[in-house]
Amino acid sequence: MKELEEIRKHLQKEAVFADASRIISFDQSTVCPEEAVEEKNEIIATLEQQAFLMRRDEAFLRNVRRAYEKRETLDEWDRAMVEQLHRNDLMEQNLSTDRAYEYALIEKKAFVDWTQAKEASDFSLFRESLEKVIGINRERSALRVVAPEENWIKCTYDRLIDRYERGMNVETIDPCFAECAERLSNLLSRIRSSKKKIRTDFLSRVVPEEQQRRVTEYLMTLQGFDPKRGTYSTSEHAYTERLSPHDIRITTHIYPDSFLSNVYTVLHETGHALFDQRQPEKNNAYFLYDGKTFGMHESVSRFYENLVGRSEPFLSAIYPKLKELMPEALSDVSAKELYEAANLVQPSLIRTEADEVTYAFHIIIRYELEKAIFEEGLAVEQLPAAWNDLYEKYLGIRPGNDKEGVLQDVHWTSDFGYFPAYLLGNFYNAMYVSRMKQEIDYEGALAAGDLTAVNDWMAKNVFEKADRLSPSEWLLALTGRTVTADDFMTYLEEKYGALYQL
Ligand SMILES: [Zn+2]
Repeated sequence: MKELEEIRKHLQKEAVFADASRIISFDQSTVCPEEAVEEKNEIIATLEQQAFLMRRDEAFLRNVRRAYEKRETLDEWDRAMVEQLHRNDLMEQNLSTDRAYEYALIEKKAFVDWTQAKEASDFSLFRESLEKVIGINRERSALRVVAPEENWIKCTYDRLIDRYERGMNVETIDPCFAECAERLSNLLSRIRSSKKKIRTDFLSRVVPEEQQRRVTEYLMTLQGFDPKRGTYSTSEHAYTERLSPHDIRITTHIYPDSFLSNVYTVLHETGHALFDQRQPEKNNAYFLYDGKTFGMHESVSRFYENLVGRSEPFLSAIYPKLKELMPEALSDVSAKELYEAANLVQPSLIRTEADEVTYAFHIIIRYELEKAIFEEGLAVEQLPAAWNDLYEKYLGIRPGNDKEGVLQDVHWTSDFGYFPAYLLGNFYNAMYVSRMKQEIDYEGALAAGDLTAVNDWMAKNVFEKADRLSPSEWLLALTGRTVTADDFMTYLEEKYGALYQL
């Protein structure tokens, strides 16, 4: 088909701008000197605008629309590529370049206001910007064209969720989150009344940066990260970026008095990186790499971080090496003590510091608030109190100020609808691990500290089709089931039931 050839040629050119902007942005958050950070913004904005203009090129869109009409006749790969382009078209076709630029300005101002408000712990400094950001999210939802086949999109908040987790909606998420909240409340109250003592004194021992860097490299190698197609760096907030098809980079943040923070950041981010490094090579020729949703990605990163990294067999397997690399910190600590400390459950106010059990509540709270804003008319000025009330309801603790409450996350300076994906990812990985256990010696692999069989299973089953399917289709192909909180909750109940002797 002539259109497909033209489409690919065009995407090749667009990728150059998009890749260049990511490379500069990665530089900006890692090695870029302080005084030069601001001037990089200009370059990034120009490259991004260029990429946007190319996506909105009329001849290109004509080809996309023609190819989409003939999608039934295309093979699986071409069809996935064309469907993704069509989806972008639905999201952007009513958005003018000028308005997109205004959105960017509003978000930029919101980020500055949020930073100042957080520093001062004063929500009123962010309120006006937040109202504008909510406004542009509403507007973007209204401008988004919904195709007749997208029958899961039923309300404004569904449109927002669909941007990050296509095919998911309030109707599907509500019962899953409700089951999760109920069983979690029960589990948490049993844990809180447990007499089990967990040793934590060694967690804040100072581990020099040089030692922590060696731990980083050891873990990345053990996890199967390919150093010929990626690297690692440090940044204020850890993240993973696919700079171009064969350049996947992660960052970590090293705190001398919290070595476990680095250990779990590296396991998490390397999980994201493996997903990108081990996707089918064929994806590159079809420009298929953004099909993986946030929930799919988070399912993989949190699989390596929690299900593998916080498991007793895996921690016992890597314990001797961790002790060799950080001798002062672990000299008088047993493998069992390390396992227990890495799984300490403690309700806390800050999402990013939450343990595996209470983390879900942080997401459920944000989901309920977002839904209330877009569907129930919750006013912005009521947000801090509503936030605090939900923390009290679910976690039994109340933020003392806005900094440790409603101002803690950067997400609401631009995006709404993103948070549910974090918890959905936990549901997904618990579901597919149930199947993995039937097909390979999962526990044996963790106990041996050899992830080869696990990584191969992940690549073949979880990674292979992720860019060509929606999360629901992917889960169905992977597990034969639709999304449920049950596997995740059973996993938590069994693991923490044993750990806390419930
Ligand atoms: Zn992540």
